[in-house]
Amino acid sequence: MSVRTVTVLGAGTMGHGIAHAAAVSGFQTRLYDVSDAQLASADGAIRRILAKAVDLGKLTATDADAALGRLETCSDVSRALDGTEFVIEAAPERIDLKLKLMADIERAAPPAAVIATNTSALSITEMAGAIATPGRLAGMHFFNPVHKMRLIEIVRALETTPATLETVEAVARRMGKETVLVNEAPGFITTRVNASIGNEAFYMLMEGVASAPDIDKALKLGLNHPMGPFELVDLVGLDTRLSILEYLHRSMGEKYRPCPLLAQYVRAGRLGRKVGRGVYIYDG
Ligand code: NAD
Repeated sequence: MSVRTVTVLGAGTMGHGIAHAAAVSGFQTRLYDVSDAQLASADGAIRRILAKAVDLGKLTATDADAALGRLETCSDVSRALDGTEFVIEAAPERIDLKLKLMADIERAAPPAAVIATNTSALSITEMAGAIATPGRLAGMHFFNPVHKMRLIEIVRALETTPATLETVEAVARRMGKETVLVNEAPGFITTRVNASIGNEAFYMLMEGVASAPDIDKALKLGLNHPMGPFELVDLVGLDTRLSILEYLHRSMGEKYRPCPLLAQYVRAGRLGRKVGRGVYIYDG
């Protein structure tokens, strides 16, 4: 299926980045959110990403204008879905919201539209089970910030059809992304590995094996990681990391038990850069 129109549901951190990627890659793009304020802020963020790309000489001003011309923000979900060919769901990570959006898509989008969800960890098979044609839903896990990160994990749920996977792959490629194919499993590839490394780092800190800066330095200089595990968790949010580990622990057992020190940091309100304090303290 050759896709021309992409609808993104949810205009937050991920949704605005995905809508930018779609519009700049030539898709007619509709971006929907329940919040008008969020739509306005997403529109501003997309304009800033385009303007910076023009400043850096990565995009011509004409191409940036053309991308904006392909982008429409919508506060009406039926309008956003009407006649669309490809839907990317990027609403908050709550199954009730995702199931409600699946019902909206069934009601308002064409029955042949392919559906992708950007969920980080929820069951895509459960979402697919809520629609009459589960074969047209797959996971499409983008990374933050979308305009800089090259990978998309494509996730095959129990009944995802090969045709759906092909279409998701084609859209991802046209956005200039690399892909990997994952059979649905908690945390896919990246979230599971990353959570394990981050948890191990907290255990080492708790055991007094080394200081946080030295653990970060060792992984950066010795293992060539672009960021240390504590720098990264401060960016991701310690609360987010804890809830991912709790989910992996519930679904896959003891190996993923969250380190008590991580839970203690979260109880202390040390949630990361977003509050100015995580493993490290940030001034200003
Ligand atoms: P966010 O909170 O920044 O944005 C979510 C947006 O959805 C908000 O603008 C909110 O107003 C809107 N929204 C709320 N209810 C809605 C509804 N019923 N319909 C449409 N929009 C609605 O969240 P985010 O970080 O962009 O995460 C979105 C999804 O992407 C989640 O499933 C998350 O797990 C996943 N994800 C996040 C990251 C990340 O680094 N933040 C990375 C990969 C995947």
